[in-house]
Amino acid sequence: MIGDQFNRMAETEGRDECGGPARPLSPERVFASTADPLGAAFPARGGTHMPTVQAPPLAEPEAAYRQALVDPSPGKRSAYLHIPFCANHCLFCGFYRNPADPAVLHDYAGHLMRDVERDGAVLAGQGPVHAVYFGGGTPSALSADDLFALVEAVRAALPLAPDCEITLEGRIAGFTTDKVEACLEAGVNRFSIGIQTFDTGLRRRLGRKASREEAEAFLRSLRDRDRAAVVCDLMFGLPGQTMEMWRRDVATCVALGIDGVDLYGLSLFSKGPLAASIAKGALPPPPALGEMAGMYARGLEILEDAGWRHLTQAHWARTTRERTLYNQFARSGADCLPFGAGAGGMLGGRRIMLDSDRLSYCRRISAGQKPIAAMLPASPTHRIRSWVAAGLETGHLDLDEGERMAGPRLRAALDPLVDQWARAGLIRRRGAAIQPLTAGWFWLGNLTAGLLQVTLDHLGREAGSPRHEGDHHVH
Ligand code: SF4
Repeated sequence: MIGDQFNRMAETEGRDECGGPARPLSPERVFASTADPLGAAFPARGGTHMPTVQAPPLAEPEAAYRQALVDPSPGKRSAYLHIPFCANHCLFCGFYRNPADPAVLHDYAGHLMRDVERDGAVLAGQGPVHAVYFGGGTPSALSADDLFALVEAVRAALPLAPDCEITLEGRIAGFTTDKVEACLEAGVNRFSIGIQTFDTGLRRRLGRKASREEAEAFLRSLRDRDRAAVVCDLMFGLPGQTMEMWRRDVATCVALGIDGVDLYGLSLFSKGPLAASIAKGALPPPPALGEMAGMYARGLEILEDAGWRHLTQAHWARTTRERTLYNQFARSGADCLPFGAGAGGMLGGRRIMLDSDRLSYCRRISAGQKPIAAMLPASPTHRIRSWVAAGLETGHLDLDEGERMAGPRLRAALDPLVDQWARAGLIRRRGAAIQPLTAGWFWLGNLTAGLLQVTLDHLGREAGSPRHEGDHHVH
């Protein structure tokens, strides 16, 4: 699935946070082209992820992790559980790890529960966890009994808030009625279903088994239970996808009346099976960047015409049931407890990556360890990075708040950039805040990186050095 982009990036690239430059950006990557702001504001589209701070991982990470667990940071806290198993490798996906063998999955679920219960014993009496996310991979590949036991173990072991958002990612194939019921009985209150496209022909070419009719019927059956938020992922920029196919996909979500939808642009993994199929000529090349921008804008227009609320760059809600809390917390650099092979987390600004080899993960759990692959020190600019990333991601970056963190001259330092983006039609000023417009939403990763660069350069100048002390970037 692609719903949890934050954890996907963490697993595949060891990166954290959201949207900063790996190296100082050239002016044309910071200032926008005004000729065609939607289709060509910048030479390439930046992702909404941020490189890690370049620093050696912490020595003795398990001890550092245990210490961080008993010393929670202020703010919201979430938990992420990774289920890195899939029935098949979807062509477009760079996150496939392990085949979904039932016996292996059952064994893995037992180790995952031990991981949660062990940390939960330390967390007893602490402030609440506001969002839990079961991602993958395909969590719905677990058996009904394992799904029930795992969700129940999380609810028993972790100090969940009474209104905790508990999301489970799933795909239609194999998500049987008994599994859905087991999830609901155990307390899942949000389903995130990977649809990508409803178009049957395109689905089959991408490795998705269910037809349009089956996909729609599945979402209707979840919706009609009326016991949990139902959201789905759609992708634009797929090979062979036309604007009409995309319009129909978004309109289908509106017609289905589910609670929310996520619109993601295709990321073509250069070593992935989709890139190989395109290179062989088995599939057409994906739409060009300008066409993708048009698709994003059309999707936004359809949803807003239908009265859906725009929550973050990729998320829209029709009902108040959809909150997308986990994704918002992840982008704001809040604490996130990681569980499972390859899971990524964050405690006090320190990025944590767990062992991504499932056998090694299970061995280390059996040996009583927290299977940490690496834990990175907190960036000295973690708060300011989180302010930029979270503000833009939720569509309202309050510059007064930035000045409270970075000093009274920050707004003046940002003015030339902000004014240029406003002239280019990427953003608008609203009081002391800036808000992305449609083109700005599409190029949000670039805005985040550019704004962060100017902010960090300003901090560096204020501190008397070209870059803020201790804040280095990975190339
Ligand atoms: S189910 Fe498909 S899209 Fe989801 S993680 Fe597995 S391979 Fe990727």
